[in-house]
Amino acid sequence: MASATLLAKENGISGFGPDDSESIVQALKRYWGYESFRPGQEQIVRSIVSSRDACVVMPTGGGKSLCYQLPAVLDAKRTAMVVSPLIALMQDQVAQLEQMGIPAGFINSSLSGGERNETLQRACQGAYRLLYLSPERIALNGTPDWLKRVPVSFFAIDEAHCISEWGHDFRPEYRQLSRLRDLFPNHPIAAFTASATRRVRQDIVEQLRLRDPLKHISSFRRANLRYVVRQCNAKAQMQVLLQAVRRITDGSVIVYAPTITRVGETVDFLEENGIPAIAYHGQMGALARRENQEKWMADEVRVMVGTIAFGLGIHKSSVRAVIHLALPKSVEQYYQEAGRAGRDGLPADCLLFWQKKDAGLHAYFIGQISDHEERERAWQRYHEVEDFVNSEECRQLYICRHFGELPKWAECGECDACAGVPDWLEEAAHTQKREGRAFPAVLTEESQATANPRALANGPDAELREYMREWRRNISRQKGISAFIVMYDTTLDQLCATRPSSVSELRRVPGFGEKKTQMYGEQILAALERFRNGERALLAMPALRRKRSDFSKRARLWKKLQKFASASLVP
Ligand code: ADP
Ligand code: ZN
Repeated sequence: MASATLLAKENGISGFGPDDSESIVQALKRYWGYESFRPGQEQIVRSIVSSRDACVVMPTGGGKSLCYQLPAVLDAKRTAMVVSPLIALMQDQVAQLEQMGIPAGFINSSLSGGERNETLQRACQGAYRLLYLSPERIALNGTPDWLKRVPVSFFAIDEAHCISEWGHDFRPEYRQLSRLRDLFPNHPIAAFTASATRRVRQDIVEQLRLRDPLKHISSFRRANLRYVVRQCNAKAQMQVLLQAVRRITDGSVIVYAPTITRVGETVDFLEENGIPAIAYHGQMGALARRENQEKWMADEVRVMVGTIAFGLGIHKSSVRAVIHLALPKSVEQYYQEAGRAGRDGLPADCLLFWQKKDAGLHAYFIGQISDHEERERAWQRYHEVEDFVNSEECRQLYICRHFGELPKWAECGECDACAGVPDWLEEAAHTQKREGRAFPAVLTEESQATANPRALANGPDAELREYMREWRRNISRQKGISAFIVMYDTTLDQLCATRPSSVSELRRVPGFGEKKTQMYGEQILAALERFRNGERALLAMPALRRKRSDFSKRARLWKKLQKFASASLVP
């Protein structure tokens, strides 16, 4: 199935950079270390290079950043302005670009006055290929003045659905972006989002006043994701959560809990059951949040339990499951959050375990919205979510239709509607009934091993992977950057699979561009050599390290669980 629908033809406006296919492919190889484009990317890149506006809807993991970063690189004298909603995201992207040898900067409130001035000055000299800004910054009075002094090539608007009140994540600051067209009538504007219904897409085009934009809409089907939706009572919910997390022996997990209290409870519950987990929510200090995020990013702890505050701008490719413990507020929100699973294209689960009371809670909050129109929109979303969870239609199909796509296929064959509720989930939900108690006793090491056949698997590949992960952790600590900025999981896995023994072999591993190879090549080859000579990772896998089995701990835990169970029965 062709996953991309191109709704407009390319036109022949003369562009700002070298647009022969050779230089585009060369840049792809040189900076990113990739051999080929993902569906849609090349056309979007070419369209931006030819100075045409664009409105791009591409699912999470589809490779949106490359679509504006590559045209930015091709124009060696000018700067692409990227509007991005989150400071953390900007910083990560800039760090990543620097690792690829692409000059980039950002201007946001995290910079001191001196740093900001310096960045501005350099920006005016055309020192950056990309400069990241927040939408608030565009709205500031002084911004147009200095922007006019920067040699701007084009504007890229990330998370563009935030401009629409019909989107699930409307941000009033985004409305200020309508000024861009007046201020820069001759510069192309390219909008990017992962989730936008037809209505939101229209809104994006109107608000940004895009002119005959290239409209690229990828299919909303994420073939590697398995959606499973299940209504549970409070007790069964924790039970299925536990089993779901236990099944994931490799890669990371995100658990979304509806409230800060539930985040805390869920972390405790998992920990008590021998599964290291950490929290992320709005009431934690910025530093603690960042620290937990880093730990999770670096695979020190694999399970992150967060409120929906967690995730925007999270670029971790090996998330094997996203588990929701309550109904989302909209289908788009669910699609976006669940879509953080499986960015690497490998199979991943999206599990929605909801409780009847979630609906009542949503209804209550919607009732509190004073603005009439906003309340109506919230009700509409509420009914859509209700319809989604109760539907017996293929989940993938449902989602595609929700976004206005008319798929030619009828079922995905994987989701709970197509393939039924998986056996393990059925069993987990019933264990608690059979045993007649809220939560199972802590599993013994033996039963953990059976529940998790791969948990103790220890082939040479697993060892090498762990060894290289440790190498990456050390580098990321030394440099003070996230592990994924040093190298994506997918790149690391490729590296372990191919075990290159020379720089030129390493350069052929996807993800090793020129700069990255230069920067880490020798070190990586030396690490591989040490591994060949028998050296191994110092730390065992974190999940195995923290297994607990002493009796007193279990007794204590059992008490706590019983208390927790009775507490969670209170409506
Ligand atoms: P999005 O922003 O759409 O969620 P990203 O831009 O973060 O997606 O890209 C997702 C992943 O896909 C990243 O690891 C990225 O490096 C990788 N990727 C993007 N384009 C390509 C390509 N042409 N070949 C291989 N990997 C790619
Ligand atoms: Zn299906």
